[in-house]
Amino acid sequence: MKEVVYLDNNATTRPAPEVVEAMMPYLTERYGNPSSIYSFGGDVKKEVDKARAQVAALLNCSPEEIIFTSCGTESDNMAVRGRLLASKERSAIVTTKVEHPAILNTCRSLKTHGSRVEEVGVNYDGALDMEQLKGSLLSDVAIASVMWGNNETGVIFPIAKIAEMVKEKGIVMHTDAVQAVGKVPIDLAKVPVDMLSLSGHKLHAPKGIGALFVRKGTKIAPYMTGGHQESNRRGGTENVPYIVGLGKACELAMNEMEGQVKKISTMRDRLERELLRLCPNTTSNGANSERLPNTTNISFQYVEGEAILLLMNELGICASSGSACTSGSLDPSHVLKAMDIPFTLLHGSIRFSLSHYNTEEEIDLVIKELPPIIKRLRDISPFGRAD
Ligand code: PLP
Repeated sequence: MKEVVYLDNNATTRPAPEVVEAMMPYLTERYGNPSSIYSFGGDVKKEVDKARAQVAALLNCSPEEIIFTSCGTESDNMAVRGRLLASKERSAIVTTKVEHPAILNTCRSLKTHGSRVEEVGVNYDGALDMEQLKGSLLSDVAIASVMWGNNETGVIFPIAKIAEMVKEKGIVMHTDAVQAVGKVPIDLAKVPVDMLSLSGHKLHAPKGIGALFVRKGTKIAPYMTGGHQESNRRGGTENVPYIVGLGKACELAMNEMEGQVKKISTMRDRLERELLRLCPNTTSNGANSERLPNTTNISFQYVEGEAILLLMNELGICASSGSACTSGSLDPSHVLKAMDIPFTLLHGSIRFSLSHYNTEEEIDLVIKELPPIIKRLRDISPFGRAD
């Protein structure tokens, strides 16, 4: 396989070798069903419980407050839909304009079923409009869902402060922390959210496993009905190998995050600084706000993000653009649009997201190769700007 410089870790991450190794016995000889009475199954249940404790340790919550799911999207659906199913009098939802589609499209779908949905805006730096949020917390609101860290810009919202505001009004608070877990410390003894979503494949576990933290006492109804698994909160035979993998990934994050984050943010800062220095008419979106340590979202004015990606792809450099190419149309990023980023910057935005598997040599390569690509594209740009 072609060597790649993988700078798209907010899309997915490389499963850690330690994670894969921990999973292997449960994909091969230890295949018992954890619900079985005999010890071939019961012993496997102990591993599920161990993984639950590993996830809980990373978040500083109790293992009983962790429900395993199939992904971040399911966790988000379980939080929002499960809360609405349990809430008799209240049906409104407060969220933000910059959430991942897992939340935005869930809320918009519930809107068509009669829920009032308010999407709170952000400013040019990606910071949440706290006044609008405060004003939106009315007596009909069943749940507020505000993300911890943005997947496109890395902008971090002040979740502890937001949760306090929300809780003061007696409203259940959920946060989509899919991009934050494993990148920033999370202490649920100090941050009063009621629910928190995470996803394995964003922190070096495989795709197909996630979890939802539900604080003891929070009223939600099961969203995935079926068997009695997960203490009657989520039906479906437990995905043991993947649960074990997620547990191991959380243990690794707990032990190694601090050192890794220093390395990652040093590389991210150098990449950003050098690209801004070497490419004129270039800005970094959200850089004035607190951000996830691994993410930079750079707009190269007068060029198309997709063209940059294609030329980088020829060199094996993987990143992503703010535009989502769906059904033949190029939709600019809803996150950058909400930030009011001007048109010519909106279309030339590239997200680089790093992990501890990246090296300084890879960053050198991007710093060397990308500025000539931008120059080449600007020379042929229909906007007629050659910088
Ligand atoms: N929430 C955020 C902020 C994300 O970035 C993602 C994935 O990119 C998701 C939710 C969905 O997670 P999953 O891919 O595990 O369904």
